[in-house]
Amino acid sequence: MPDKYTVAFLGLGHMGVPMAANLVTAGHSVAGYDVVPAALEAAQSRQIPVAAGAADALAGADVVLTMFQSGQQVLDAYRGTGGGPGLLAAAAPGTMFLDCSTINVDEAREAARLAIEAGHRSVDAPVSGGVVGAEAGTLTFMVGAGDDDFEAVRPLLEVMGKRVVHCGAHGAGQAAKVCNNLILGVSMIAVSEAFVLGEKLGLSHQALFDVASAASGQCWALTTNCPVPGPVPTSPANRDYQPGFAGALMAKDLNLAVNALHSTGVTGRMGQLAAEIYDTFAAEGGAGRDFSAIITDIREKSATGAPAAHGTAPPPDAAGPGATTAGTATGNAPTAHDDGSPE
Ligand code: NAD
Repeated sequence: MPDKYTVAFLGLGHMGVPMAANLVTAGHSVAGYDVVPAALEAAQSRQIPVAAGAADALAGADVVLTMFQSGQQVLDAYRGTGGGPGLLAAAAPGTMFLDCSTINVDEAREAARLAIEAGHRSVDAPVSGGVVGAEAGTLTFMVGAGDDDFEAVRPLLEVMGKRVVHCGAHGAGQAAKVCNNLILGVSMIAVSEAFVLGEKLGLSHQALFDVASAASGQCWALTTNCPVPGPVPTSPANRDYQPGFAGALMAKDLNLAVNALHSTGVTGRMGQLAAEIYDTFAAEGGAGRDFSAIITDIREKSATGAPAAHGTAPPPDAAGPGATTAGTATGNAPTAHDDGSPE
Protein backbone atom coordinates (compact mmCIF):
# COMPACT_ATOMS: atom_id res chain seq x y z
CA MET A 1 0.00 0.00 0.00
CA PRO A 2 1.22 3.53 -0.74
CA ASP A 3 2.05 6.17 1.88
CA LYS A 4 -1.07 8.08 0.98
CA TYR A 5 -4.11 6.06 0.05
CA THR A 6 -6.79 6.67 -2.53
CA VAL A 7 -10.02 5.88 -0.72
CA ALA A 8 -13.52 5.46 -2.06
CA PHE A 9 -15.54 6.33 1.04
CA LEU A 10 -19.10 5.05 0.72
CA GLY A 11 -21.71 5.87 3.35
CA LEU A 12 -21.44 9.50 4.46
CA GLY A 13 -23.77 9.39 7.46
CA HIS A 14 -23.27 10.40 11.07
CA MET A 15 -20.06 8.41 11.34
CA GLY A 16 -18.87 8.46 7.75
CA VAL A 17 -18.60 12.22 7.35
CA PRO A 18 -16.27 12.87 10.29
CA MET A 19 -14.22 9.74 9.53
CA ALA A 20 -13.78 10.78 5.89
CA ALA A 21 -12.98 14.35 6.96
CA ASN A 22 -10.12 13.04 9.11
CA LEU A 23 -8.73 11.09 6.16
CA VAL A 24 -8.82 14.22 4.00
CA THR A 25 -7.11 16.25 6.71
CA ALA A 26 -4.38 13.61 6.94
CA GLY A 27 -3.66 14.02 3.22
CA HIS A 28 -5.29 10.90 1.81
CA SER A 29 -7.14 11.18 -1.46
CA VAL A 30 -10.85 10.61 -0.77
CA ALA A 31 -13.79 10.28 -3.13
CA GLY A 32 -16.98 10.10 -1.10
CA TYR A 33 -20.35 8.81 -2.16
CA ASP A 34 -23.75 8.28 -0.53
CA VAL A 35 -27.10 7.35 -2.03
CA VAL A 36 -28.75 10.22 -0.13
CA PRO A 37 -28.14 13.67 -1.66
CA ALA A 38 -28.29 15.43 1.73
CA ALA A 39 -25.40 13.25 2.91
CA LEU A 40 -23.33 14.33 -0.10
CA GLU A 41 -24.04 17.96 0.74
CA ALA A 42 -23.03 17.40 4.36
CA ALA A 43 -19.77 15.86 3.16
CA GLN A 44 -19.05 18.70 0.77
CA SER A 45 -19.60 21.22 3.55
CA ARG A 46 -16.73 19.46 5.36
CA GLN A 47 -14.41 19.70 2.32
CA ILE A 48 -14.77 16.01 1.47
CA PRO A 49 -14.61 15.54 -2.31
CA VAL A 50 -17.63 13.62 -3.54
CA ALA A 51 -18.23 11.59 -6.68
CA ALA A 52 -21.31 11.46 -8.92
CA GLY A 53 -21.78 7.73 -8.32
CA ALA A 54 -20.24 4.71 -6.63
CA ALA A 55 -18.39 3.67 -9.78
CA ASP A 56 -16.85 7.14 -10.10
CA ALA A 57 -15.76 7.01 -6.47
CA LEU A 58 -14.05 3.68 -7.11
CA ALA A 59 -11.93 4.95 -10.00
CA GLY A 60 -8.27 4.56 -8.99
CA ALA A 61 -9.13 3.56 -5.42
CA ASP A 62 -6.75 1.37 -3.38
CA VAL A 63 -9.37 1.03 -0.66
CA VAL A 64 -13.17 0.86 -0.76
CA LEU A 65 -14.34 1.85 2.72
CA THR A 66 -18.01 1.21 3.50
CA MET A 67 -19.82 2.72 6.50
CA PHE A 68 -23.43 1.58 6.05
CA GLN A 69 -26.31 0.84 8.43
CA SER A 70 -26.67 -2.90 7.87
CA GLY A 71 -25.07 -6.04 6.54
CA GLN A 72 -27.73 -6.32 3.88
CA GLN A 73 -26.69 -2.93 2.53
CA VAL A 74 -23.06 -4.04 2.48
CA LEU A 75 -23.80 -7.31 0.68
CA ASP A 76 -26.17 -5.61 -1.77
CA ALA A 77 -23.59 -2.96 -2.59
CA TYR A 78 -20.83 -5.56 -3.01
CA ARG A 79 -22.93 -7.76 -5.31
CA GLY A 80 -24.97 -5.04 -7.03
CA THR A 81 -28.75 -4.86 -7.15
CA GLY A 82 -31.29 -4.37 -9.90
CA GLY A 83 -28.97 -5.79 -12.54
CA GLY A 84 -26.36 -3.07 -12.03
CA PRO A 85 -22.73 -4.03 -11.33
CA GLY A 86 -21.77 -4.14 -7.70
CA LEU A 87 -18.69 -2.65 -6.08
CA LEU A 88 -16.78 -5.92 -6.38
CA ALA A 89 -17.22 -5.94 -10.15
CA ALA A 90 -16.44 -2.24 -10.51
CA ALA A 91 -13.19 -2.25 -8.51
CA ALA A 92 -9.74 -2.92 -9.98
CA PRO A 93 -8.33 -6.37 -9.11
CA GLY A 94 -6.69 -6.54 -5.70
CA THR A 95 -8.65 -3.61 -4.22
CA MET A 96 -8.91 -3.56 -0.44
CA PHE A 97 -12.53 -3.79 0.75
CA LEU A 98 -12.66 -2.30 4.23
CA ASP A 99 -16.07 -2.48 5.89
CA CYS A 100 -16.44 -0.42 9.07
CA SER A 101 -20.22 -0.89 9.44
CA THR A 102 -21.58 -2.85 12.41
CA ILE A 103 -23.13 -6.00 10.90
CA ASN A 104 -23.73 -9.67 11.67
CA VAL A 105 -20.63 -11.83 12.04
CA ASP A 106 -22.00 -14.20 9.38
CA GLU A 107 -22.60 -11.30 6.99
CA ALA A 108 -19.05 -10.04 7.53
CA ARG A 109 -17.68 -13.49 6.69
CA GLU A 110 -19.88 -13.64 3.61
CA ALA A 111 -18.70 -10.17 2.52
CA ALA A 112 -15.08 -11.31 2.91
CA ARG A 113 -15.74 -14.49 0.97
CA LEU A 114 -17.34 -12.56 -1.90
CA ALA A 115 -14.52 -10.01 -2.01
CA ILE A 116 -11.79 -12.64 -2.06
CA GLU A 117 -13.64 -14.71 -4.63
CA ALA A 118 -13.77 -11.60 -6.84
CA GLY A 119 -9.99 -11.20 -6.54
CA HIS A 120 -9.92 -8.52 -3.86
CA ARG A 121 -8.76 -8.16 -0.25
CA SER A 122 -11.12 -7.86 2.71
CA VAL A 123 -11.11 -6.46 6.23
CA ASP A 124 -13.97 -6.03 8.71
CA ALA A 125 -13.31 -3.18 11.14
CA PRO A 126 -16.37 -2.05 13.11
CA VAL A 127 -15.83 0.81 15.52
CA SER A 128 -16.72 2.02 18.96
CA GLY A 129 -16.42 5.60 20.15
CA GLY A 130 -19.50 7.11 18.49
CA VAL A 131 -19.79 10.34 16.57
CA VAL A 132 -17.68 12.10 19.19
CA GLY A 133 -14.87 9.61 18.65
CA ALA A 134 -15.28 9.82 14.88
CA GLU A 135 -14.94 13.61 15.01
CA ALA A 136 -11.92 13.49 17.30
CA GLY A 137 -10.22 10.63 15.46
CA THR A 138 -10.26 8.57 18.63
CA LEU A 139 -12.35 5.58 17.54
CA THR A 140 -11.50 2.05 18.55
CA PHE A 141 -11.32 -0.31 15.57
CA MET A 142 -11.93 -4.03 16.08
CA VAL A 143 -10.36 -5.72 13.09
CA GLY A 144 -11.00 -9.08 11.46
CA ALA A 145 -8.43 -9.81 8.74
CA GLY A 146 -5.36 -11.77 7.76
CA ASP A 147 -2.05 -10.38 9.04
CA ASP A 148 -1.00 -8.72 5.77
CA ASP A 149 -4.37 -7.11 5.22
CA PHE A 150 -4.42 -5.87 8.80
CA GLU A 151 -1.02 -4.23 8.37
CA ALA A 152 -2.14 -2.74 5.04
CA VAL A 153 -5.12 -0.90 6.55
CA ARG A 154 -3.60 -0.10 9.92
CA PRO A 155 -2.14 3.33 8.87
CA LEU A 156 -5.55 4.37 7.61
CA LEU A 157 -7.35 3.20 10.74
CA GLU A 158 -4.81 4.99 12.91
CA VAL A 159 -5.83 8.27 11.31
CA MET A 160 -9.47 7.72 12.30
CA GLY A 161 -8.90 6.00 15.62
CA LYS A 162 -6.57 5.87 18.56
CA ARG A 163 -6.90 2.14 19.18
CA VAL A 164 -6.70 -0.55 16.52
CA VAL A 165 -7.05 -4.13 17.72
CA HIS A 166 -6.44 -7.11 15.46
CA CYS A 167 -9.06 -9.54 16.80
CA GLY A 168 -8.45 -12.42 14.41
CA ALA A 169 -9.57 -13.63 10.99
CA HIS A 170 -12.51 -12.36 8.90
CA GLY A 171 -15.54 -11.69 11.09
CA ALA A 172 -13.51 -11.41 14.30
CA GLY A 173 -13.89 -7.64 14.42
CA GLN A 174 -17.68 -7.96 14.36
CA ALA A 175 -17.46 -10.80 16.88
CA ALA A 176 -15.56 -8.60 19.33
CA LYS A 177 -18.04 -5.79 18.83
CA VAL A 178 -21.17 -7.89 19.51
CA CYS A 179 -19.60 -9.61 22.52
CA ASN A 180 -18.61 -6.25 24.03
CA ASN A 181 -22.03 -4.74 23.43
CA LEU A 182 -23.76 -7.77 24.90
CA ILE A 183 -21.83 -7.05 28.11
CA LEU A 184 -22.67 -3.35 27.86
CA GLY A 185 -26.41 -3.81 27.27
CA VAL A 186 -26.82 -6.33 30.07
CA SER A 187 -24.70 -4.32 32.51
CA MET A 188 -26.57 -1.09 31.84
CA ILE A 189 -29.86 -2.81 32.62
CA ALA A 190 -28.39 -4.30 35.80
CA VAL A 191 -26.98 -0.96 36.96
CA SER A 192 -30.31 0.75 36.23
CA GLU A 193 -32.31 -1.89 38.09
CA ALA A 194 -29.95 -1.50 41.05
CA PHE A 195 -30.43 2.27 41.16
CA VAL A 196 -34.23 1.95 41.00
CA LEU A 197 -34.14 -0.73 43.67
CA GLY A 198 -31.92 1.54 45.75
CA GLU A 199 -34.47 4.34 45.39
CA LYS A 200 -37.23 2.03 46.66
CA LEU A 201 -35.03 0.94 49.55
CA GLY A 202 -34.25 4.52 50.54
CA LEU A 203 -30.66 4.56 49.32
CA SER A 204 -29.30 7.73 47.74
CA HIS A 205 -27.84 7.55 44.25
CA GLN A 206 -24.53 8.89 45.52
CA ALA A 207 -24.33 6.31 48.29
CA LEU A 208 -24.92 3.43 45.91
CA PHE A 209 -22.43 4.91 43.44
CA ASP A 210 -19.77 5.40 46.10
CA VAL A 211 -20.07 1.78 47.20
CA ALA A 212 -20.56 0.00 43.88
CA SER A 213 -18.04 2.03 41.89
CA ALA A 214 -15.31 0.91 44.28
CA ALA A 215 -16.67 -2.59 44.82
CA SER A 216 -17.54 -5.63 42.76
CA GLY A 217 -20.42 -3.88 40.98
CA GLN A 218 -17.93 -1.61 39.22
CA CYS A 219 -18.38 -1.37 35.44
CA TRP A 220 -18.37 1.19 32.61
CA ALA A 221 -22.16 1.48 32.67
CA LEU A 222 -21.86 2.69 36.26
CA THR A 223 -18.64 4.67 36.40
CA THR A 224 -18.70 6.43 33.00
CA ASN A 225 -22.23 6.29 31.64
CA CYS A 226 -23.95 6.40 35.02
CA PRO A 227 -27.73 6.31 34.34
CA VAL A 228 -28.62 8.74 37.14
CA PRO A 229 -27.60 12.40 37.18
CA GLY A 230 -25.05 13.51 39.74
CA PRO A 231 -22.37 10.93 40.48
CA VAL A 232 -20.67 11.20 37.06
CA PRO A 233 -21.25 14.76 35.80
CA THR A 234 -20.30 13.90 32.20
CA SER A 235 -22.79 11.04 31.80
CA PRO A 236 -25.81 11.53 29.47
CA ALA A 237 -28.19 11.38 32.47
CA ASN A 238 -27.01 14.91 33.31
CA ARG A 239 -28.21 16.24 29.93
CA ASP A 240 -31.64 14.62 29.81
CA TYR A 241 -30.18 11.50 28.18
CA GLN A 242 -29.03 13.12 24.97
CA PRO A 243 -26.84 10.44 23.32
CA GLY A 244 -24.18 9.32 23.73
CA PHE A 245 -25.08 5.98 22.36
CA ALA A 246 -28.65 5.94 21.14
CA GLY A 247 -31.17 3.33 22.29
CA ALA A 248 -31.81 2.35 18.66
CA LEU A 249 -28.16 1.46 18.17
CA MET A 250 -28.05 -0.57 21.37
CA ALA A 251 -31.15 -2.44 20.22
CA LYS A 252 -29.51 -3.05 16.85
CA ASP A 253 -26.25 -4.30 18.35
CA LEU A 254 -28.01 -6.58 20.86
CA ASN A 255 -29.98 -8.11 18.01
CA LEU A 256 -26.71 -8.78 16.21
CA ALA A 257 -25.50 -10.43 19.41
CA VAL A 258 -28.67 -12.53 19.59
CA ASN A 259 -28.18 -13.61 15.97
CA ALA A 260 -24.66 -14.69 16.88
CA LEU A 261 -25.95 -16.54 19.97
CA HIS A 262 -28.41 -18.42 17.78
CA SER A 263 -25.99 -19.21 14.98
CA THR A 264 -23.44 -20.58 17.46
CA GLY A 265 -25.96 -22.35 19.72
CA VAL A 266 -24.87 -20.43 22.82
CA THR A 267 -27.46 -20.26 25.60
CA GLY A 268 -27.45 -16.51 26.16
CA ARG A 269 -30.55 -15.77 28.16
CA MET A 270 -29.37 -12.41 29.46
CA GLY A 271 -28.39 -11.23 26.00
CA GLN A 272 -31.72 -12.34 24.59
CA LEU A 273 -33.61 -10.56 27.36
CA ALA A 274 -31.51 -7.42 27.01
CA ALA A 275 -32.31 -7.34 23.27
CA GLU A 276 -36.03 -7.62 24.02
CA ILE A 277 -35.83 -4.89 26.66
CA TYR A 278 -33.98 -2.51 24.33
CA ASP A 279 -36.31 -3.32 21.41
CA THR A 280 -39.27 -2.26 23.57
CA PHE A 281 -37.39 0.78 24.84
CA ALA A 282 -36.53 1.91 21.31
CA ALA A 283 -40.09 1.31 20.06
CA GLU A 284 -41.61 3.24 22.97
CA GLY A 285 -39.69 6.47 22.44
CA GLY A 286 -36.16 5.60 23.52
CA ALA A 287 -34.68 5.20 20.03
CA GLY A 288 -33.09 8.64 20.01
CA ARG A 289 -32.25 8.83 23.71
CA ASP A 290 -29.07 7.58 25.27
CA PHE A 291 -29.36 3.89 26.08
CA SER A 292 -28.86 4.71 29.79
CA ALA A 293 -32.38 6.22 29.73
CA ILE A 294 -33.52 2.61 30.13
CA ILE A 295 -33.55 3.53 33.83
CA THR A 296 -36.52 5.86 33.26
CA ASP A 297 -38.39 2.95 31.69
CA ILE A 298 -37.58 0.66 34.61
CA ARG A 299 -38.57 3.38 37.07
CA GLU A 300 -41.89 4.03 35.34
CA LYS A 301 -42.73 0.34 35.21
CA SER A 302 -41.82 0.06 38.90
CA ALA A 303 -44.02 2.96 39.97
CA THR A 304 -47.04 0.91 41.03
CA GLY A 305 -47.35 1.03 44.78
CA ALA A 306 -44.95 3.92 45.11
CA PRO A 307 -47.13 7.02 44.63
CA ALA A 308 -44.33 9.48 45.30
CA ALA A 309 -42.26 8.23 42.38
CA HIS A 310 -44.89 8.01 39.62
CA GLY A 311 -43.02 8.22 36.35
CA THR A 312 -40.51 10.79 37.47
CA ALA A 313 -37.01 10.53 38.76
CA PRO A 314 -36.60 11.42 42.37
CA PRO A 315 -33.83 13.91 42.98
CA PRO A 316 -30.40 12.32 43.25
CA ASP A 317 -30.39 12.72 47.00
CA ALA A 318 -33.93 11.46 47.50
CA ALA A 319 -33.47 8.76 50.03
CA GLY A 320 -34.52 7.61 53.41
CA PRO A 321 -33.03 8.14 56.81
CA GLY A 322 -29.28 8.04 56.90
CA ALA A 323 -28.84 9.17 53.33
CA THR A 324 -27.57 12.57 54.29
CA THR A 325 -24.40 11.18 55.73
CA ALA A 326 -24.00 8.44 53.18
CA GLY A 327 -22.78 8.88 49.67
CA THR A 328 -20.35 11.68 50.30
CA ALA A 329 -17.17 9.69 49.88
CA THR A 330 -14.79 11.21 47.39
CA GLY A 331 -11.46 10.36 45.92
CA ASN A 332 -11.82 6.63 45.54
CA ALA A 333 -14.46 6.40 42.85
CA PRO A 334 -13.34 5.91 39.26
CA THR A 335 -13.83 8.93 37.05
CA ALA A 336 -14.81 9.06 33.41
CA HIS A 337 -13.55 6.45 31.00
CA ASP A 338 -11.05 7.89 28.51
CA ASP A 339 -13.58 7.32 25.72
CA GLY A 340 -16.74 9.11 26.75
CA SER A 341 -19.00 7.12 24.50
CA PRO A 342 -19.00 3.40 23.87
CA GLU A 343 -20.30 3.64 20.37
P1 NAD B 1 -26.07 6.52 9.13
O1 NAD B 1 -27.40 5.94 8.83
O2 NAD B 1 -25.99 7.92 9.62
O3 NAD B 1 -25.15 6.45 7.80
C1 NAD B 1 -25.13 5.36 6.90
C2 NAD B 1 -25.10 5.94 5.50
O4 NAD B 1 -24.89 4.90 4.54
C3 NAD B 1 -26.41 6.63 5.10
O5 NAD B 1 -26.16 8.00 4.78
C4 NAD B 1 -26.89 5.84 3.87
O6 NAD B 1 -27.55 6.63 2.92
C5 NAD B 1 -25.56 5.30 3.36
N1 NAD B 1 -25.69 4.17 2.45
C6 NAD B 1 -26.41 3.03 2.61
N2 NAD B 1 -26.25 2.24 1.53
C7 NAD B 1 -25.41 2.88 0.69
C8 NAD B 1 -24.85 2.56 -0.59
N3 NAD B 1 -25.12 1.42 -1.23
N4 NAD B 1 -23.99 3.45 -1.16
C9 NAD B 1 -23.70 4.61 -0.55
N5 NAD B 1 -24.20 4.98 0.67
C10 NAD B 1 -25.05 4.11 1.27
O7 NAD B 1 -25.35 5.53 10.12
P2 NAD B 1 -24.16 5.88 11.12
O8 NAD B 1 -24.71 6.37 12.42
O9 NAD B 1 -23.14 6.68 10.40
O10 NAD B 1 -23.59 4.41 11.39
C11 NAD B 1 -22.91 3.70 10.38
C12 NAD B 1 -22.52 2.35 10.95
O11 NAD B 1 -21.68 2.52 12.08
C13 NAD B 1 -23.71 1.49 11.41
O12 NAD B 1 -23.47 0.17 11.07
C14 NAD B 1 -23.72 1.71 12.91
O13 NAD B 1 -24.27 0.61 13.61
C15 NAD B 1 -22.25 1.86 13.19
N6 NAD B 1 -21.93 2.66 14.37
C16 NAD B 1 -22.60 3.82 14.59
C17 NAD B 1 -22.29 4.58 15.70
C18 NAD B 1 -22.98 5.89 16.00
O14 NAD B 1 -22.82 6.40 17.11
N7 NAD B 1 -23.72 6.46 15.05
C19 NAD B 1 -21.30 4.11 16.58
C20 NAD B 1 -20.62 2.92 16.30
C21 NAD B 1 -20.95 2.20 15.18
